[in-house]
Amino acid sequence: MTGHEGGCLCGQVRFRVSTPALSSGYCHCRMCQKSSGAPVVAWVTFPACGFSWIAGTPRTYGSSARAKRQFCAQCGSYMLFRSEDSPDEVSVNTASLDDPGVFPPQMHIFTESRITWFHTRDALPTHQGYGPFQRPED
Ligand SMILES: [Zn+2]
Ligand SMILES: [Zn+2]
Repeated sequence: MTGHEGGCLCGQVRFRVSTPALSSGYCHCRMCQKSSGAPVVAWVTFPACGFSWIAGTPRTYGSSARAKRQFCAQCGSYMLFRSEDSPDEVSVNTASLDDPGVFPPQMHIFTESRITWFHTRDALPTHQGYGPFQRPED
């Protein structure tokens, strides 16, 4: 069985993904910046059916009417993003995986809010906003 595990800094909350990844990238949006305290969040999306929490219970923050961010209540690590726009998918924060090197980012999204001093040395596609993940009503 293929699978990857990850978890928070303190180890209380752990998760597993058991399906191949759908997409990956860097998100430069302000909500990811604020939620993580980092200039960018690298994410990797999986089918929701292949994701499970295997230890502990994350806290959930509704960061907008349509999106939820899940994190460890004890250490604060931000691990998972879910959106009602794509209920069949979850986005894991890549660095929270035990083996983050397996999932290199494939694109940049929300470069409209990229911090001016932050650069990555790559030739990946860049998108000002959602990119390939357009919200249905947009
Ligand atoms: Zn924790
Ligand atoms: Zn974001």
